[in-house]
Amino acid sequence: MPGTNLTRDEAQTRARLLGVDSYTVELDLTTSETTFDSTTTIAFTCTQPGAETFADLVGATIHELTLNGRRLDPAEVYADNRIRLTDLQDVNELVVRAACPYSRTGEGLHRFVDPADDRVYTYTQFEVPDARRVYATFEQPDLKSVFHFHVTAPEGWAVVSNAPTPEPRPLGDGKALWEFPATERMSTYITALIAGEYHAEFATYRGKHGEIPLGHYCRQSLVEHMDTDELVKMTCQGFEFFEDAFGYPYPFHKYDQLYVPEYNMGAMENAGAVTLRDEYLPRSRQDAAFYEFRCSVILHEMAHMWFGDLVTMKWWDDLWLNESFAEWACYHAAVEATEFDESWTGFTNARKNWALRQDQLPSTHPIAADNYDLQAVEVNFDGITYAKGASVLKQLVAWVGLDNFLVGLRAYFGKHAFGNSEFSDLLSALEKSSGRELDSWAKEWLQTSGVNTLTPQFEIGEDGSYTSFSVLQTAVVEHPTLRRHRIGIGLYDDVNGRLVRRTNVEVDVEGESTAIEELVGVRQPDLLLLNDGDLTYAKIRLDERSLATLVGGLSRLDDSLARALCWGAAWDMTRDAEMRATDFVALVLGNIAVETDAFGSSRIPGYAAQAANNFSDPATRAELRAAWEQGVRRLLDEAEPGSDHQLTFTRSFASAAHTGEALDDLEGLLDGSLVIEGLSIDTDLRWTLLSGLARAGRADDERIAEELRRDNTISGQERAAAARAARPTAEAKAEAWEIAVVRDDVPNETQRSVVLSFMQHGQDELLAPYVEKYLEVAETLWERKGTQRASTALEFLFPRPLASRELLDRVSTWLQDSAANPAAKRYVHEGAADVERYLAGQAKDAGER
Ligand SMILES: [Zn+2]
Repeated sequence: MPGTNLTRDEAQTRARLLGVDSYTVELDLTTSETTFDSTTTIAFTCTQPGAETFADLVGATIHELTLNGRRLDPAEVYADNRIRLTDLQDVNELVVRAACPYSRTGEGLHRFVDPADDRVYTYTQFEVPDARRVYATFEQPDLKSVFHFHVTAPEGWAVVSNAPTPEPRPLGDGKALWEFPATERMSTYITALIAGEYHAEFATYRGKHGEIPLGHYCRQSLVEHMDTDELVKMTCQGFEFFEDAFGYPYPFHKYDQLYVPEYNMGAMENAGAVTLRDEYLPRSRQDAAFYEFRCSVILHEMAHMWFGDLVTMKWWDDLWLNESFAEWACYHAAVEATEFDESWTGFTNARKNWALRQDQLPSTHPIAADNYDLQAVEVNFDGITYAKGASVLKQLVAWVGLDNFLVGLRAYFGKHAFGNSEFSDLLSALEKSSGRELDSWAKEWLQTSGVNTLTPQFEIGEDGSYTSFSVLQTAVVEHPTLRRHRIGIGLYDDVNGRLVRRTNVEVDVEGESTAIEELVGVRQPDLLLLNDGDLTYAKIRLDERSLATLVGGLSRLDDSLARALCWGAAWDMTRDAEMRATDFVALVLGNIAVETDAFGSSRIPGYAAQAANNFSDPATRAELRAAWEQGVRRLLDEAEPGSDHQLTFTRSFASAAHTGEALDDLEGLLDGSLVIEGLSIDTDLRWTLLSGLARAGRADDERIAEELRRDNTISGQERAAAARAARPTAEAKAEAWEIAVVRDDVPNETQRSVVLSFMQHGQDELLAPYVEKYLEVAETLWERKGTQRASTALEFLFPRPLASRELLDRVSTWLQDSAANPAAKRYVHEGAADVERYLAGQAKDAGER
C-alpha cells in the first residue's frame, strides 16, 4: 500500500517541520463488535507557516476532519492512509473523527472473545507503525508528545493505558468513561490501551527512589494459572537492579504487566503498560527453560522502560540497538539479580544459535541496518536485531569493561531523558567513560555482515607442550570482514573422569592469525576451547584431539557455559557439513541426559531431530531416524521421575515417533495403559501426544474434536487446528492450506499454529504439490495478508522436508524470475539456503560412512 511505507527522509522532513504538544485520543469501544470510534485531537507547532505535511491513519472511515477550525473533505485529503495537511500555522490543531476496524491479526487494536466464557478482551500492539491503526498520528518515534486517553467502554471492564487508571465515570446504558491523566512525553509506538473483562491483581514495589504501583492482568479463564507472587518477585528484583545499574529512577508512574491472548510476539514495552503473550501463564507443567525464558522477557521489557521508552531512537535505524540492549540487559540482570544466575549459558544454547543461523543466510545484513523506510524495518527485524546484536554488545562490554560501560550508560540516560538519540550518542558516552576509541570498533562489528570462524593452529613438541600457538580467523567470501575479538582460551584436562579447566587466558585476537605467546611451552590439554566464557560472537572450531574428547564425553565437562560452547561448535560443524549428522545424533543421545542447563536440555534434542531429518544421508535416513526415536525412548525411560528431562524427552519422543511400536507408546500414554513413573499427562502434553499420532495418521477428525471437547479453550482450538494440519491426507492439507494462506477470518495465532504444523517429515508425496502452490502464493502474499500473516506463512510453509537438488533448482529459477515483494522473497531465499545446507550435510553424512 503506497503511503503506509513511510520513508526515513519523509520522517526527517516532518520532524524538522513539526513539534507535537499533545494528543487527546478519545476511543469508544461500545459502538460495534467490528469497529470502534476514534477521535484524535493533535496540538502541534510548525516552524514554517504555510508549509504542508501529513498525518497517518490506516484503514479508517473518517467522519469529520478539521485543521485549525477549517473543515477538510476526507474525500479530498485522505488517501493512501495519509491525511494531507496544508497551510499550517505556527500553532495548529488537527481533529479527526473516525471509525476504525478492530484487528484479528494482533496489529492495531486486537479484539478477542474467549471461547471458554465468551468474555471480551482487547489490547493494542503498535510497534513498529501501527498506532495509526487506532488514532491519527505523526507515526515516527522522534515526534514525542504527551497523550490524554479518554476511553468509553462497558462498565465493569478493566481499562489500562500508559498513565495510571482513573476512576471511571458512569455514562448510563452500562457504559463508563475513563479519562486518563496526561502521560509523560513519549513516542506513539509505546502508547497502549488494554481494555476488557480482565482480572487484575495489585502489589507495590518499594525501592530507594520511592514506590511503584504494580498491576498484573490476565483473562478470567486464566486466573488460576497466574502465579502472581512469582511474577511480582521477579518484577521487584528487576526494578531494584535496574534503578541501581542505570542510576535513574523508573520514569513512569506505575507498572502494569498484562498477559493477553493471540499475541504475536513475546511481549511489548508499552510505557508502564507492558503486554505479554498469555501462554506465559502456564496451564500445564513446564520445564525450567520456560520459567527462565519468561524471566528474561519480563526483564527485557523492563529494561526498555529506560532504553527505548525514556530515551528513544530517532528513527528505526537504531532498532537493533533498542533490542540488543534490552537483550543484553535482561541476561545481565537475570544473572546478577535473580535465581537464573547461569542465564548466559541459556543465551548461548538458544539465542546465539538463532543469531548464527540468521547471520549465515543470504538475507543477512549488518546489525545496524540501513532502514530507509518502514518496509526495510520489517525485513530487517530478526535474529540479527536481537540475538547477534546482544552477543556483540556483550563483546563491547568485554571490550570497554563492565564498570565503564555502566558509567557511560548513566551519563547517556541523564543527558537524553524523555528525548531521542542516535547510536553515536551512546558511543560517545562510552568513549568518554572507557577512554577507548570506538568508531572503528562500531564499523567492523555493526556495519558489516557475517560471522568469523576462529580455529586453533599449533605445533606440539616432544614433551607434549605447544611449541607454537595461533588463533586463525576466517570469513566467508561474501562477507570478508575480519574483526577484533577479545576472547578467553580455556584448557581443560581429564581429572578422574571429569573435564576440569586448568587455565584460561584472555587475549585480543586480530586479523588472519594471532600468535598466542602465553600458550607456548604449555602442555596440550585434552580439550582446548576458544572463546571460553563466550565473550565474543564467532564460530569456533575444535582441534582433532579436543573433538575426540568432546565426542567421548561432553557431559564430563563441569562448566555449563563451556558445555554450551561445545554443543554450539558441534551443531555449527554439522550445519557446515564438517560433522556427520549421524555423529551429532550420537553425541546428543550420549550426553544430553546429564545436561543441567535448562535451555541446553530443552533445545539440543531439537537440533538432533533436525540432524536426523534434514542433514542425514537419505540412503540411511530411516536407520538414523529409528535410532533417534529409540534413543529418545530410552532416555525417557531412564530420566528421573518427575524431572524436566523426563518432560523434554517425552515431547521429543512424541515428535520423533514414527514406527508402529513408538506410536503404540503414544497411544498408551494418552489412554493411560502406559504409565511412566513421575510423568503426568496433563492438558498440553495430551495435545503433544495426540499431534504425534495425527501426524502419523492415527488421529482422525473425530478424535481431535473429542480432545477439543475436553479442552475448549483458545489454546485447545489452536492445538486442534495444528493437529488437523499435521494429518497425512490430501483433504487435511487442503483444509490447512485454506486456513494458512487463503481465509481472512482466521485469527493470527490459529493461523500460526496451522502454518507451523503443515510441513511434516515422511509426507513427501502429499506435500509435493505444495512446492508450486507455495511459490504461487509467495508472489502476492505480502500485499494480500500484511506483514504478520505473510511472514509467518512464508517462513514456515517453505517445503524444507522435500529438500533436493530439484527443489533448489526450481526455487532458484523462481527467485530470478519473480517480481514478488522483497520482504516475501527474503523468506524464499532463506528456505533455499537451508536446503543447500541440508544437501551438503547429506553428502557429508554419506561420504564418510
Ligand atoms: Zn524489545
